[in-house]
Amino acid sequence: MTGLVVAMDGPSGSGKSSVSRGAARALGLRYLDTGAMYRAMTWWMLQQGVELTDPAAVAARCGEPAIVSGTNPDGPTIHVDGVDVAEPIRQAEVTGAVSAVAAVPEVRARLVALQREIIGAGDIVVEGRDIGSVVWPQAAAKIYLTASPEARARRRSAEVAGSTVEAQQEAMARRDTLDSTRKTDPLSMAAGAIELDTTALTLDEVIAEVLRLVKERT
Ligand code: C5P
Repeated sequence: MTGLVVAMDGPSGSGKSSVSRGAARALGLRYLDTGAMYRAMTWWMLQQGVELTDPAAVAARCGEPAIVSGTNPDGPTIHVDGVDVAEPIRQAEVTGAVSAVAAVPEVRARLVALQREIIGAGDIVVEGRDIGSVVWPQAAAKIYLTASPEARARRRSAEVAGSTVEAQQEAMARRDTLDSTRKTDPLSMAAGAIELDTTALTLDEVIAEVLRLVKERT
């Protein structure tokens, strides 16, 4: 399937990462986690002591870090200035700050350009919030994953040690609001995207449905 690009968008906890990696593996494609890139930028800003509530301060520094994404679906990697940040970018401090950093237009311009460089070679499943709408609207298949707020919070709290479903639901609602109301490239369903509600489905069922949709579209 030379050149194939699959765009996988949706809110946090909708199952994007597991589904994207599973689909990429099954189709023999690469995999790109664009959320990890926004997290890596946020981690670097925190390390540098940049005032994250000041968009001008974030904009002024966002060209500095070298962010490198590895696209093997069996072991995706993310490095900032040569440092492996796969673990620290999942910490609560980064999760709590990432939406503010991702709302800064200069950050988005830089990371979207990086994403397009990687996607340009094709054969890739790309997960994010704005892949089908902004980053790669020409994607052969655009999928928008959703799930009920309860299901999303349940899944996320199972992944994060020591967190309750209620706390996760509250944190997710906050991040969803920030991500879908920001001025630049908000989370939204792209024109031509297919919505897939994963609430009542197992991971294997969702992957099977994605593979079916991709075949139908290509
Ligand atoms: O997918 P993940 O939850 O790791 O994404 C972290 C954050 O990065 C999101 O809450 C959102 O603010 C931002 N993001 C974005 N655009 C993308 C991917 C992620 O704004 N394409």
